[in-house]
Amino acid sequence: MSAPLDASKLVIHKTTTPKEKLPNDKLVFGKTFTDHMLEIEWTAQAGWGTPTISPYHKLSLDPSTVVLHYAFELFEGMKAYRDTDNNIRTFRGDKNMDRMNKSADRIALPTFDGEELMKLIDQFLLVDESFVPQGAGYSLYLRPTMIGTTESLGVGTPDKALLYVIASPVGPYYGTGFKPVSLEATDYAVRAWPGGVGNRKLGANYAPCVRPQLEAAKRGYQQNLWLFGEEGYITEVGTMNAFFVFKNADGTKELATAPLDGTILEGVTRDSILELTRERLPKNEWVVSERKFTIGEVEERAAKGELIEAFGAGTAAVVSPIKSIGWKGKEIEVPLAAGDSGELTAQVAEWIRKIQYGEEQYKNWSRVAQ
Ligand SMILES: *Cc1c(COP(=O)(O)O)cnc(C)c1O
Repeated sequence: MSAPLDASKLVIHKTTTPKEKLPNDKLVFGKTFTDHMLEIEWTAQAGWGTPTISPYHKLSLDPSTVVLHYAFELFEGMKAYRDTDNNIRTFRGDKNMDRMNKSADRIALPTFDGEELMKLIDQFLLVDESFVPQGAGYSLYLRPTMIGTTESLGVGTPDKALLYVIASPVGPYYGTGFKPVSLEATDYAVRAWPGGVGNRKLGANYAPCVRPQLEAAKRGYQQNLWLFGEEGYITEVGTMNAFFVFKNADGTKELATAPLDGTILEGVTRDSILELTRERLPKNEWVVSERKFTIGEVEERAAKGELIEAFGAGTAAVVSPIKSIGWKGKEIEVPLAAGDSGELTAQVAEWIRKIQYGEEQYKNWSRVAQ
């Protein structure tokens, strides 16, 4: 019988050499880490082993380890926030756990009880509590990761794996206020395709997207707007989900994002925006749709003055306003009615921030580590 993941078996070894903490204004995304890390080994024979929180350390892997050859790797991205009562909170971590299990299952790595990993993450957060920065926009970025650790060049099901979580204190993505981004609509390289794995957070999906980003940067654009197919369907922007707001002829407005058809990463931020806007925007004025739409439609509607705003959505920035899209040698300008963003972009950013920092209670979306 192989053992399930069991948070009650947790063992904690604390560091004797605590790191110096950086002041908030020196924090760089993903560059410095907390004093500890959480690890759980898995073997096909024994199942999940003893969860351990120990001083942050390097991994030692045999050069033949399958993760290094065949990309048996998946990850999650989530954040912990300090509220005004000094509680440490996570935002919809259950969604990250579900997605992590889907990613693991897709590449034949072991699945686990997501609530048990959330309990372990809570304990990890309490151990490294002092690294969760204070202040609006500041948070502790959490990186749950799983790798196949079988030592073999054979391509097959890994019989060993390591699940670990590291944490990096981060500041607001844009400093103070928004910095709208310019996109290059990209059709010569494809991020994800039907039947592929673009809907899973597998490391293998990310390295191939860096070259197209460099190409876009050479032409003065900050991110890729990933298109799919001859139709030019809009899928995602960089590593974020994409949202567009259109005005209809009858005066109603539409918030549109691509449907989860297998080519889209199932963003927790995306899901949260859909739920909050469906609940909170006046139904006689707004339609919220998950539907396919093309760069051609965006270009056409921008020309008619019917494109109102556009933004990317993901854990790192929450929302990232879009100011222009380069497509076939022309620029599609996106209005920024609220100055550095559209009005809805600013509104959803505020709705989500309040829930993340515990200023507002919404369903079970915010969880206090205890
Ligand atoms: C992680 C990610 C997102 C955003 O997901 P969130 O859960 O909102 O952080 C969107 N697209 C891609 C490709 C991603 O990797």
